[in-house]
Amino acid sequence: MNEIGFGFLRLPQNEDKTIDYERLNPMVDRFLELGGRYFDTAYTYLDELSEEAIRKSLTERHERSSFVLSDKLPGFKFTSYEECRACFERQLQRCGVDYFDIYLLHGLNEENYQIARENGQFRLLRELKAEGKAGRIGFSYHDTPQLLDKILTEHPEVDVVLLQINYLDWNSKAIRAAECYDVAVKHAKQIMVMEPVKGGTLAKLPEKAENILRELRPDDSMARWAVRFAAGLEQVEVMLSGMGAIEQIEENMRPLEPLTEGERETLERCARIIRKDTAVACTGCSYCVGGCPRDIPIPEYFALYNEYRRNRNEDWKIQPAYDALAKKYKKASECIGCRTCDDLCPQRLSAAQYIAEVAATFDK
Ligand code: SF4
Ligand code: SF4
Repeated sequence: MNEIGFGFLRLPQNEDKTIDYERLNPMVDRFLELGGRYFDTAYTYLDELSEEAIRKSLTERHERSSFVLSDKLPGFKFTSYEECRACFERQLQRCGVDYFDIYLLHGLNEENYQIARENGQFRLLRELKAEGKAGRIGFSYHDTPQLLDKILTEHPEVDVVLLQINYLDWNSKAIRAAECYDVAVKHAKQIMVMEPVKGGTLAKLPEKAENILRELRPDDSMARWAVRFAAGLEQVEVMLSGMGAIEQIEENMRPLEPLTEGERETLERCARIIRKDTAVACTGCSYCVGGCPRDIPIPEYFALYNEYRRNRNEDWKIQPAYDALAKKYKKASECIGCRTCDDLCPQRLSAAQYIAEVAATFDK
């Protein structure tokens, strides 16, 4: 079975959104104690606080040889090779290291691939590897299997790809995880997995799906089922899991047994139930949030909206939760329909349209 990696995308935070190191540091220590090695961050994660969190909780407190660190270049932000190179140097400083074990271009899709080519980002990767500043090189990916095939054909120097894989997206027509996995296997690339629990969506299932899984394995959490799915894929080297509490570390680091054929079929059945039951397939990644000119808490609103659509008889609980958020940030009805969120969403959701549905539901 492959390894679990600690993704620094969803960390414990204080009220003011700063990182809660009193909770994070023991999590990092426990992860290493239990045999974990992989840590993953990105320049943009957590409003650019994630790399600093790597430094404060990991690299300043543990031997460099005791962990494997991957980071990602936000190449889509830059217009020249020089800016990308300068960003890389800044990332080393922020993380408090002098090399990354794995260095990836962040979020390649059609548009970002074009930018990467124009700005010499693949040249940068090759140079960093030759200089010993990046052990292995590659990219994280959100687009079609056809484009993935094209990129890997044009760039055989790539060692590793980071793909979104979980049992809900495996046969999804939007994400096409199974087809992307097959392309990466065809090119003999090492595969890292992001979102094995789909941003927590697969940790809390509709009652009907949860009952099916509980009957089979009463002691296993829903998240564990999701992780076992990704863990059983042969070419996968590491699954990155965003862990926000020490209990999740304890649970994720328990030995994983591969799924049986029957269990895989059961998960496919559950995926059909979940799809039917989920209004917005948002993973809560927050990529859209920084671009919103109205400061609308988009993922939080989608989480509430999903909850509302799943349990209409609980709207007495959900409406006050919405009102509290709307008081702190902006109401969904204050959206100006600019659709920046649509462009930034790696799940290719029509986020602006869903925000209008949220407004119609909660801002009546
Ligand atoms: S469409 Fe609305 S929610 Fe989306 S970025 Fe624009 S203002 Fe924000
Ligand atoms: S709407 Fe898209 S970009 Fe925004 S949090 Fe959800 S999945 Fe991420």
